[in-house]
Amino acid sequence: MKETVIVTGGSRGIGRSIVELLAGEGYRVRFLYRSNDGAARAVLAAVASAGGEAYAHRCDVADAANVEAFCELVADEPIYGLVHNAAVIWDGHFLLMAPEAWEVVMQTVMTAAYRLTRGCLRPMLRAGRGRIVAVGSLSGMLGHAGQVNYSTAKGGLHAFAKALAREVGRYRITVNTVVPGWIMTDLVAAMPEAKRREAEREIPLGRMGAPLEVARVVSFLLSEQASYITGATIRVDGGVGA
Ligand code: NDP
Repeated sequence: MKETVIVTGGSRGIGRSIVELLAGEGYRVRFLYRSNDGAARAVLAAVASAGGEAYAHRCDVADAANVEAFCELVADEPIYGLVHNAAVIWDGHFLLMAPEAWEVVMQTVMTAAYRLTRGCLRPMLRAGRGRIVAVGSLSGMLGHAGQVNYSTAKGGLHAFAKALAREVGRYRITVNTVVPGWIMTDLVAAMPEAKRREAEREIPLGRMGAPLEVARVVSFLLSEQASYITGATIRVDGGVGA
């Protein structure tokens, strides 16, 4: 029986690349997305044409009832991996930041990881093996102006992964964080050309990364080769956060 890996935010960008790579490696991938049905269908089509197995679930990870319903659905599956990748940004000057901008970002990034992990950890504990990967951000390590909400949420997610790693290590479950730098996704592609060039000048490797370059590290952390890595934070950022 194929082992299941759950990927949040799997319909676009880095998440899509993770889904396609893992499905190609033989996992049964269940990915969650918020609302873009067309993008989710495109991922399913790409996976199917490559001979893989993936399922799309429209599930708002910021919504407790949605997450609970999803966890019930997969309760009897051999869940091997969990990739917390979904995130939103809602930037603004701290004093002008609406309470909703704080709440939505915290719920989507940090609370979602708490809820989904609680709901999916039991099959890993029963099996005595499992892999959890959080997709973090340099914003959560360094703090970025205009992103106090996102920096706080990502910093919390990094700490969540480290603390959980200590707690579940004895059950052979690893928990690690992958930190992307500038990666060419919809978000970055929408930036003005001049701003993009300016960002590129700051990157030691001189270019933005591709989603697949992040996905490969996630795949490695899920693999047997990463059996002795836990509580780690791995930057995939062309050196910009060094
Ligand atoms: P995208 O904005 O391209 O994609 C976001 C994905 O998350 C979509 O599939 C979206 O679904 C889903 N999503 C958003 N909110 C929710 C929600 N409430 N419930 C379920 N799914 C949701 O993101 P990226 O690929 O750029 O980023 C992926 C991860 O990498 C994020 O954690 C981000 O913080 C991190 N990162 C990215 C960087 C970059 O340069 N791109 C840099 C540093 C970190 P839908 O389309 O349906 O809304």
